[in-house]
Amino acid sequence: MNDMEIKAWHLQCKAGRLMKKMEKRGFQVAYAPTAEEAKKAILEQVPATGAIGLLGSQTMNQIGVFAHLRASGRELVDHAGQKGVLGPDDFWNYMARVFTAEAMLASANAVDSEGRLYNIDGTGNRVASMIFGPKKVILGISLNKVADSPEEAWKRARQTASPMNSQRLSLPTPCVKSGHCHDCQLEASICNYFTVIDRSRPVGRISVVLIGEDCGY
Ligand code: SF4
Repeated sequence: MNDMEIKAWHLQCKAGRLMKKMEKRGFQVAYAPTAEEAKKAILEQVPATGAIGLLGSQTMNQIGVFAHLRASGRELVDHAGQKGVLGPDDFWNYMARVFTAEAMLASANAVDSEGRLYNIDGTGNRVASMIFGPKKVILGISLNKVADSPEEAWKRARQTASPMNSQRLSLPTPCVKSGHCHDCQLEASICNYFTVIDRSRPVGRISVVLIGEDCGY
């Protein structure tokens, strides 16, 4: 094997271990070595009819899933597409529609090596609808988000994902200057709802496509 093949083999081994643990937790799990394969695997799982929720996810943006669905003419509940377009009350009502959508797409901020999903959310619509609402939840999660322990998973979510998302959104929070969390307690903070998803119930409702290429943050 050449170096690229050895790297791909090692990621496949890592994904294989995690998939076994996640399946025991009731998640439907697949592995896609590349972003292109992940896009295909995710789109194949999107139901053919009904509204689809697009929740905040740089992974889904980067691999082209959201752009594909926006161009498809499907009925969407599109968080990034409508934020700032609708006024606050209308946006709240619009996002509440995700709970009756056929499916939603997002990512997670971290996964621990036992297969639990960790998220920090600003308003809570992303994590709330992951837990209850759409009949199908499809998550694209790259292997660079896998942490060795619950502590490391929270650290990744709080010290990597949240400051980077705050930077992306140009928030007036101290992490945007320093790159790390200051537990700011500001109104603008995106760190308000901390969730762990231990299992999928019903079994298979939450589908995870693990991605070998680094995506999102
Ligand atoms: S709590 Fe505040 S400072 Fe910490 S990551 Fe979240 S937004 Fe940034």
